[in-house]
Amino acid sequence: MARRKIIAGNWKMNMTPSQAVALCAELKDLVKSDSVDVVYCVPAIDIVPVAQAVKGTNVAVGAENLYIEDKGAYTGEISAPMLVDAGVKYVIIGHSERREYFKEDDAFLNKKVKKAFEAGLTPILCCGETLEQREMGVTLDWIRLQIKSDLVGVTADQVKSMVIAYEPIWAIGTGKTATTEQAEEVCKGIRECIAEIYDAATADAVRIQYGGSVNAGNAAELFAQPDIDGGLVGGASLKADFGKIVNY
Ligand code: PEP
Repeated sequence: MARRKIIAGNWKMNMTPSQAVALCAELKDLVKSDSVDVVYCVPAIDIVPVAQAVKGTNVAVGAENLYIEDKGAYTGEISAPMLVDAGVKYVIIGHSERREYFKEDDAFLNKKVKKAFEAGLTPILCCGETLEQREMGVTLDWIRLQIKSDLVGVTADQVKSMVIAYEPIWAIGTGKTATTEQAEEVCKGIRECIAEIYDAATADAVRIQYGGSVNAGNAAELFAQPDIDGGLVGGASLKADFGKIVNY
């Protein structure tokens, strides 16, 4: 089955609302594509203006986080129904920065994945190893544990519709990209893990991105790998280069 590629920008904590609107205008023609899905995952405060700015274009809006309850006394949090009402289609869950700085563990992330599906959002579930884990040779063991824990109770049909992003932590924002072979090996390992938990059809359908210093120069080779269905892009999503990555 041919999986449609998906290229998502992760803006992280960058872009004020007015800068966000200006970036959408700058990228508008550059990210046009009929053949890949394009997503901007933006800070919460930028969601409404970005949704307005990309209306009528091929760009979908994603959030960088959500909370596990629908409403209530959770000061500072944003719920899945709020995101949906604002026009959000995708949500990043389990980015290594949230795992590390905000101590989000797999049990909590599993609740977030289920909450996203309940609301009709598509999760972009991130996983990835530290440099120490890679050097110890436990990369795939670690990633399989993350995937299995984060997907407890998630159905095969849900997994078929979701996105998994493999992001080696040592490659995020460092300018150090995993080699094409390293990236493909782990993305293939994730697909095999999905086949074991679910079945071959689910593994064949789920889209798996690579993320970690993707840029205009390395995107084509990475995205040409059989198990890499696009990228989650941080730094390079904030500039015109993102158009080159989309049209790799
Ligand atoms: C990310 O934050 O998801 C990411 C991959 O960042 P960068 O592309 O800057 O390494």
